[in-house]
Amino acid sequence: MKNIKNWVFDLDNTLYKAECGLFDKVHILMGKFIEEKLGLQPGEAQDLRTQYYHKYGTTLRGLMSEHNIDPDEYLDYVHQINYDVIVPNKSLSESIKNLDGKKYIFTNANYGHVVKVLDKLKMTDAFDGCFDISESNYVPKPHIDIYEDFQKKFKLPNNETAMFEDLHINLKYPYELGWKTVWITNNLEYNLNRDIKTQSDIEKVMNEKKYINYTTDQLENFLNTLK
Ligand SMILES: [Mg+2]
Repeated sequence: MKNIKNWVFDLDNTLYKAECGLFDKVHILMGKFIEEKLGLQPGEAQDLRTQYYHKYGTTLRGLMSEHNIDPDEYLDYVHQINYDVIVPNKSLSESIKNLDGKKYIFTNANYGHVVKVLDKLKMTDAFDGCFDISESNYVPKPHIDIYEDFQKKFKLPNNETAMFEDLHINLKYPYELGWKTVWITNNLEYNLNRDIKTQSDIEKVMNEKKYINYTTDQLENFLNTLK
């Protein structure tokens, strides 16, 4: 990681731990939105989400493609949650600030959500820039074009960039670009990586997927070892 001058962080379940339950609340509202908008029962809404997740990568892309849903209406709805479950993390904020170079947020959520989360974490001043899903026409990571749009916005050289993410699939293309990739594996019982429950599942992924340079369940400690 010696050459790294650009530090790219996913937001949700990367900068805070999933067990605070914030993302669970978002997921409940995603289901409710579909039930209300499309007139479905909870089970049917869940089935549709699973179907869209596999076909489009996110529920939102499916809703936009197949039901012409306004993305901002959806994102505003699903983020009407109480953010108080996120508590300040000054030491992580300091660890990020102490990294040599620029720091960015790269998220599949929207700015409104980013601002609220960073405010609660007391990390607003730790970052030099943010790329949200509206900037990629609501196409999410791991779609390849999005990384290129992100890279163009901040002019990131491949050999000087590292990315931190809790969803390992989102690290595949960055690795191919030549970025260093760090998979955040905390919150196993809460994580969104399907089928990863134990340490041996993590090792299996590390052995099978060749696009992960490092893994850590303690982001702050990991960053502190880079000094
Ligand atoms: Mg995440």
